[in-house]
Amino acid sequence: MSKVVLVTGSSRGIGKAIAQKFADNGYSVAVNYIQSKELAESFCRELNEKGINAKAYQADVADKQAVDNMVKQIEQDLGKIDVLVNNAGIAKQQMFQDISEEYLKRIFAVNFFGTFYCSQSVLPNMLHNKKGSIINISSIWGTRGASCESAYSSTKAAIIGFTRSLAKELAPSNIRVNCVAPGVIDTQMLEPLGKETIELLKTEMPMGRLGTPEDIAESVYFLASDAASYATGQVLLVEGAFVL
Ligand code: NAP
Repeated sequence: MSKVVLVTGSSRGIGKAIAQKFADNGYSVAVNYIQSKELAESFCRELNEKGINAKAYQADVADKQAVDNMVKQIEQDLGKIDVLVNNAGIAKQQMFQDISEEYLKRIFAVNFFGTFYCSQSVLPNMLHNKKGSIINISSIWGTRGASCESAYSSTKAAIIGFTRSLAKELAPSNIRVNCVAPGVIDTQMLEPLGKETIELLKTEMPMGRLGTPEDIAESVYFLASDAASYATGQVLLVEGAFVL
């Protein structure tokens, strides 16, 4: 039976590339989304046509009950989850004084609480199997300060603290917890910056280009795989020497 991966927020962007990478390596894939039903379902159809077991699951990762229901359904449909990738996230550039309490709560609910809830939900079976791998997606802005990103970067720093603590707690159970911190990656998340700023950013990149979702997917897959069997609690920056 093939292994099962749940990638949160995999209807598009980095999550989709991660799901594709696991599918290419024979995994059954649970594609989670919040609103892009059509994108998620057409992606799954594409995978199904190639003989890959893939199914789309709508759930707001910020809603604990919805997460628990989704995980239960995935386990019934595809089998026990071997790898969880906590990728779903939101971002908005805003001056510190303009950040509302409502938005602060929402960004923490999705980026951090979502990571927490999904990890709690998949854990009973990982503990039972004494095997599993969790990869959390942080950001370079979780490791460095970023102007106009105080809320976002706080959620991403929290994810790093969570990764390290959970890695220590779960190491005796043979469950590894790692983190990938992407740099500037060419997805819809960048759109609000506008074309001009994106072009400017490219010129500031030591590698002369933005990162691609596939760049991140390769690192996530490596950390989840047995090739990284002694790596846990690590934060891998994949950012083309932008902020070193
Ligand atoms: P994106 O293109 O905006 O895609 C976001 C994905 O997350 C979509 O699949 C979206 O689903 C899903 N999502 C959003 N809120 C959700 C929720 N509450 N519950 C479930 N799914 C939800 O973003 P991306 O650039 O691929 O980013 C993916 C991750 O990488 C995020 O955690 C982000 O913070 C991180 N990251 C990105 C960059 C970058 O430069 N792009 C850099 C560093 C870190 P729908 O399609 O249904 O809306």
